[in-house]
Amino acid sequence: MSNVHSDTVGTDPRNPLARLAFDESAPLLEVEDLEVEFRTRDGVAHAVNKVSFTLEAGQTLGILGESGCGKSVTAQAIMGILDTPPARITGGEVRYRGVDLLKLDEKVRRRVRADRIAIIFQDALSSLNPVFTVGWQLAELFRQHRQMSRADARRRAVEMLEMVGIPAAKERAGDFPHQFSGGMRQRVMIAMALALEPDIIIADEPTTALDVTVQAQVMDLLATLQRELQLGLILITHDMGVVADVADEICVMYAGHAVERADVYDIYERPAHPYTKALLESIPRIDQKGQSLTAITGLPPVLVNPPPGCSFHPRCTFARDRCTHDEPPLYELPGGRRSACHFWEEVLES
Ligand code: SF4
Repeated sequence: MSNVHSDTVGTDPRNPLARLAFDESAPLLEVEDLEVEFRTRDGVAHAVNKVSFTLEAGQTLGILGESGCGKSVTAQAIMGILDTPPARITGGEVRYRGVDLLKLDEKVRRRVRADRIAIIFQDALSSLNPVFTVGWQLAELFRQHRQMSRADARRRAVEMLEMVGIPAAKERAGDFPHQFSGGMRQRVMIAMALALEPDIIIADEPTTALDVTVQAQVMDLLATLQRELQLGLILITHDMGVVADVADEICVMYAGHAVERADVYDIYERPAHPYTKALLESIPRIDQKGQSLTAITGLPPVLVNPPPGCSFHPRCTFARDRCTHDEPPLYELPGGRRSACHFWEEVLES
């Protein structure tokens, strides 16, 4: 795939991105102290609390955590697709190549979203329009955003379907979404996400609705395309198995907080936060024979009324009195990894 950004953005005065001063030497994406809240009838839910991370080109960041931990809300805030109200971004910055997307007006933001950052959702069936063929939906992207002729757009749509491994792509371009299997539909979603050659793909639970073998095929495809195209990939999942093979770095979220950030090896071999450790102890591992699994007791907190101190303390086997009133910061550990636990040294040694 050629990079279209320089030619379309640089020469088309109608493209609002041409007026933005992107700094190509700045990180691809920097999320800094992002805060999102939801106003509900029961009170204000702090869904994302000062979450920070950086994503470089060619890097895969896994965002991991249970349902309701804030990982999908973080993705929607980056994309600018939160339902406002009830959601509201109350703090922080989301910088793409040095430009804070949160300060852009909606029209420009939409254009960044179309050109630079794409998202793949879990449910491909409801993300595709059921009354148009997949070829038409793909071609429409090229017609609307690249001003291609009908014939060129159709040809490009078929190329995209071939790229994501849809057999007999030319014929299948004329099929409707419901005529595809779940795995093939997710491939179509990947083709749609890559169509405008973004720099960043956010994949929000992209394989959750698929069975295990199809899951592996779709993840292989995503990882291969990410490597070949040198994309920044944010992979959001609750499944530690899904991120283990593909992520370079992992950010573990709990109750709206990033509680641990480290490279994938450190996370799996020497977790520095009790929640990460508990997650690992609750899944079977191929490298640990005779391992007994331990469930994490209790439930994640209600975000309108989280526990004081460390929000994990009611479920934490390392908890002490201090944890019930003293909220831990995201400590920087040797080697640059991070953990939001007062007793991270003890967790590392355990
Ligand atoms: Fe557990 Fe305390 Fe660490 Fe929180 S700060 S994770 S409660 S040990």
